[in-house]
Amino acid sequence: MTEATTLRVAAVIEETAHARSLVFDGDLDYRPGQFLTLRVPSDRCGSVARCYSLSSSPFTGDRPTVTVKRTAGGYASNWLCDNISAGDTVDVLPPAGLFTPASLDADLLLFAGGSGITPVMSILKSALHQGNGRVELVYANLDEPSVIFGAELKALADSHSGRLTVTHWLEAERGLPTIDDLVGLARPHAARDAFTCGPVPFMKAVVEALQLLEFPRERRRVERFVSLAANPFDRQIA
Ligand SMILES: Cc1cc2nc3c(=O)[nH]c(=O)nc-3n(C[C@H](O)[C@H](O)[C@H](O)COP(=O)(O)OP(=O)(O)OC[C@H]3O[C@@H](n4cnc5c(N)ncnc54)[C@H](O)[C@@H]3O)c2cc1C
Repeated sequence: MTEATTLRVAAVIEETAHARSLVFDGDLDYRPGQFLTLRVPSDRCGSVARCYSLSSSPFTGDRPTVTVKRTAGGYASNWLCDNISAGDTVDVLPPAGLFTPASLDADLLLFAGGSGITPVMSILKSALHQGNGRVELVYANLDEPSVIFGAELKALADSHSGRLTVTHWLEAERGLPTIDDLVGLARPHAARDAFTCGPVPFMKAVVEALQLLEFPRERRRVERFVSLAANPFDRQIA
């Protein structure tokens, strides 16, 4: 296994009432859409390990950043949001994951639900900055205050008009998107590479919609946010 490293937190950004970004000092070699595994201390068992996707782009000169949304009743996400501040250090495993575009020049169709925006944001910013394709983002949230990166997405859409379109879907206003809704949103972009991350029912509905539109498997990627059962940091202490 690759060695864990220790990162220093340069800043903590309150993105919404329930989500915080941890901005790290230093350079990190990662691809858009990849995640870090963080060691979260626990007085119960020493530590737990949890994965958090990088929301920053490796191409824009911004510092590596992960964005953590509180899970109701969850341990690590709440611990990170409640306890980490600038100047603290966090042990992490190297960036990993395959939820990353093969080419940043491809036209992309991105579906994000809630905190699923995190890896999608990294992909979106990287494609706009480094590639030359068009990007369509469908972003589902409960309501306006739960939208993470709302202002940043608006600024990006304004500065890349013609290349980036953002469609917000607010459950409070329109209910959950149905498969028909999702088919309608995806149909004009059926030749693109699709990336989906969000709550399980949302991802299932998106995948079903993409299947109905006959997206081949290699053109639809999903990232599942689950908690690790094992602790890879335990194996490093020997
Ligand atoms: C590839 C990937 C990327 C992800 N990216 C993101 C992201 O960008 N943003 C994001 O918000 N989430 C992301 N996630 C989800 C994230 O990893 C966690 O699953 C999520 O934050 C919920 O973790 P939690 O500990 O808060 O909740 P839970 O895992 O639901 O917490 C409950 C668990 O913690 C245990 N527990 C309770 N108290 C303690 C204690 N005192 N000590 C030890 N254990 C205890 C319980 O036994 C139970 O197993 C990602 C997941 C994956 C796999």
